Amino acid sequence: RRDSLRRHAAAPAHTLDGVAIEVAANIVNAAEAAEAVRHGADGVGLLRTEFLFAHRSDAPAEAEQRAACQAVLDALDGRTAIIRTLDAGGDKEVPYLPLPPEDNPALGLRGIRTGLAMPAVLDSQLRALLSLTPLSRLRILLPMITDLSELQQVRARIDELAREMGLSERPQLGVMIEVPSAALLAEQLAAHADFLSIGTNDLTQYTLAMDRCSPALAARLDPLHPAVLRLIEMTVRGARQHGRWVGVCGAMASDLAAVPVLLGLGVTELSVSPALVPEVKACVRQLQLAQCREQAQALLQQSSPQAVRALLQLADTGQH
Ligand code: PEP
Ligand code: MG
Repeated sequence: RRDSLRRHAAAPAHTLDGVAIEVAANIVNAAEAAEAVRHGADGVGLLRTEFLFAHRSDAPAEAEQRAACQAVLDALDGRTAIIRTLDAGGDKEVPYLPLPPEDNPALGLRGIRTGLAMPAVLDSQLRALLSLTPLSRLRILLPMITDLSELQQVRARIDELAREMGLSERPQLGVMIEVPSAALLAEQLAAHADFLSIGTNDLTQYTLAMDRCSPALAARLDPLHPAVLRLIEMTVRGARQHGRWVGVCGAMASDLAAVPVLLGLGVTELSVSPALVPEVKACVRQLQLAQCREQAQALLQQSSPQAVRALLQLADTGQH
């Protein structure tokens, strides 16, 4: 079965009613980019750059950052790469950054907040990204966006750096939706971003106020919680008002039970672990989008993740 999945993996995934869904991969380096291509990924949906230099105790030079990211683009054989700027802080330690100790690291300096607090670090990464070729295959993604001001500050910085570098082209710029405020303001963000990518790991953590690393809460930390589903729905609705697409790059996209839900809510890109690309594509190909949409409306009315999962299971057994 795995072999047959693999043979079909490279083809684009369409739902039974003919809607194309992009299935991309979450990676940390060029070796994984090559693995993603082997598994039939349509591109890279999330490169977590904080892990690109996890082995280092000092900041990588711009040339080194550039080389590592160019190697990823080169491994993709014409596909696009969404590269996220450093998501330092919170649960992700970056040894070479002097981050202050905090009582609540998840609510402190992390993601784009770190970048804006340390402009030299962000500039060096942005310059490395802007020097990649071809820029048309690069999309820059900003982590932990809270509201529009952060996007506008980074957009202005990119414009300034690109001008200094004599570039006429700008890569697409997207924001992660992983904080409830960003989901609530998705319409405003979509007016200024080229695309939105939902980080369901953090969106679940912050919506439910449950630490994503807490073993005691692990069983309750379910992205199929109706509160999270409503925020995803709101994000898609906001994005549509400006004709932007919405992807999901959190672990939820790799949960085959959640795939019909995400499609039903209007998500058109899923980014998953490279090895799971064939299975997620196969799952998409068995779905009727019209049916997913109808089901999603019912799921939004549930009051617990258990109720959501029970309804999904019922529908699943009904189909077979
Ligand atoms: C997420 O929060 O869902 C996400 C994709 O980012 P990370 O897991 O790297 O925090
Ligand atoms: Mg995150």
